[in-house]
Amino acid sequence: MADRYDQDEKMEEVTENAEEKQESKEISETQEQDNSEYEDVCFVCRRPESKAGKMFKLPNNICVCDDCMHKTMDAVSQFDYQGMLNDPQFQKDMDSMLKSGNMPNIRFVNIADLQGEGGIPNKQKIKKKKKQEQPQPVLNIRDIPAPHKIKASLDEYVVGQEHAKKVISVAVYNHYKRVATGTMDEIEIEKSNMLMIGPTGCGKTYLVKTLARLLDVPLAIADATSLTEAGYIGDDIESVISKLLAAADNDVEKAERGIVFIDEIDKIAKKKNTTSRDVSGESVQQGMLKLLEGAEVEVPVGANSKNAMVPLATVNTRNILFICGGAFPDLEDIIKERLTKTASIGFNATLKDAFDKDKNLLSKVTVEDLRKFGMIPEFLGRLPIIFTLDGLTKEMMVKILKEPRNAILKQYQKLLELDEVKLDFNDDALEAIAEKAMKRDTGARALRSIIEEFMLDIMYEIPKDDNIGRVTITREYIEGNGGPIIDIRSNMLLESGE
Ligand code: ADP
Repeated sequence: MADRYDQDEKMEEVTENAEEKQESKEISETQEQDNSEYEDVCFVCRRPESKAGKMFKLPNNICVCDDCMHKTMDAVSQFDYQGMLNDPQFQKDMDSMLKSGNMPNIRFVNIADLQGEGGIPNKQKIKKKKKQEQPQPVLNIRDIPAPHKIKASLDEYVVGQEHAKKVISVAVYNHYKRVATGTMDEIEIEKSNMLMIGPTGCGKTYLVKTLARLLDVPLAIADATSLTEAGYIGDDIESVISKLLAAADNDVEKAERGIVFIDEIDKIAKKKNTTSRDVSGESVQQGMLKLLEGAEVEVPVGANSKNAMVPLATVNTRNILFICGGAFPDLEDIIKERLTKTASIGFNATLKDAFDKDKNLLSKVTVEDLRKFGMIPEFLGRLPIIFTLDGLTKEMMVKILKEPRNAILKQYQKLLELDEVKLDFNDDALEAIAEKAMKRDTGARALRSIIEEFMLDIMYEIPKDDNIGRVTITREYIEGNGGPIIDIRSNMLLESGE
């Protein structure tokens, strides 16, 4: 019986011990978790992990940075014990120390401090930066969204340009379908590289940027004017792939599915009547041929120049989608000339100025016109999809102001909402802004600068007065003959009958 009792007691003890162990394990786990949220701090120089780099972990949660560890090692290895012992001053110090029992010039380190809980307390540490969660792409290229879905997503951001959005959606759909199924290997299907023609500020870059963001593919934007033939001053042509690799976080596979946008492509047209070597015009077109078609290029990782001591990566450009864009000034004249020439033969001859007022003249562009402009046939042959964007009209400008998801007006309204002030724009005011922007001839780019100009005063004055509940921008205010309409909060409450 007594035996039984003893056994029971022992069992209880064992379970109690196990519980205790479990508890202490949990505590140390939470501590570890706590610590992993914080950066380690060097015990010697007190710099955090983010500044000092990787730490050596010593017992009792003491960390020492690489620098300090090396310095300590160096100091220890150079220490001249022999010399020290023969030094008369040292011997004198030792004598007096032995007599008095005190050590001169020596500060004691309290070992207990060193062994304090977890070395340096968390409150003296910097919290590690949280890793940002990767946003999910709106459209997933692995599932290859149908063209109408791509266009619907583009519609949320890009105003007008219906034709361009349609062409680009179909081209991107076909391109990624080929890439995903690998049919490019079996039958040589042409790549859907594109050439976009449209006046400045009409949304060429914006369209490509939006597309790349929606598909979550890396995008490199390069300016054709800065490109030169390899070996000359300027960026050589392969540097665009280097940029793409950087945009893909040095992930070669990701870069090989990316998009390269080359802006101002009209600036590399063949120069007329030139006797010198055309290193930034025709030669760049020549140099781009192999990239457009698909080639293996060696690009430096993390640098722009191959001369630097950097590793090289091989990127295959076969599945990279190239989109070129340009304003092509004077192209209209070339088209007009062609059209009048063909139309002036025979009985149906039209008048010479019949096409002067044709707004859609640019959309009648042919490869022949582009050749005349100075693009070489081989280059044009590798950009099978050619389309034009419309110049922005006043109505489009008004829509750009208020309709896209991240419209400029919405951004300002959100800003003032934080001060609990409502921002309204009269329709008249929006038209006035659009009219002003049209005069500047820089497309939608002018809109933001105009709005910034007159919003400055409003953003400055409104936080001064807590009573302001609503500001309405009027045409008079935009044109400088009046002020905005200001509503006081209490009046607004009366109006709404609260
Ligand atoms: P470009 O045709 O010269 O490349 P951008 O694409 O850079 O012009 O356009 C400049 C800015 O104008 C863009 O950042 C965008 O905010 C705005 N924008 C231009 N066109 C449109 C459009 N059709 N829809 C919405 N915003 C536009």
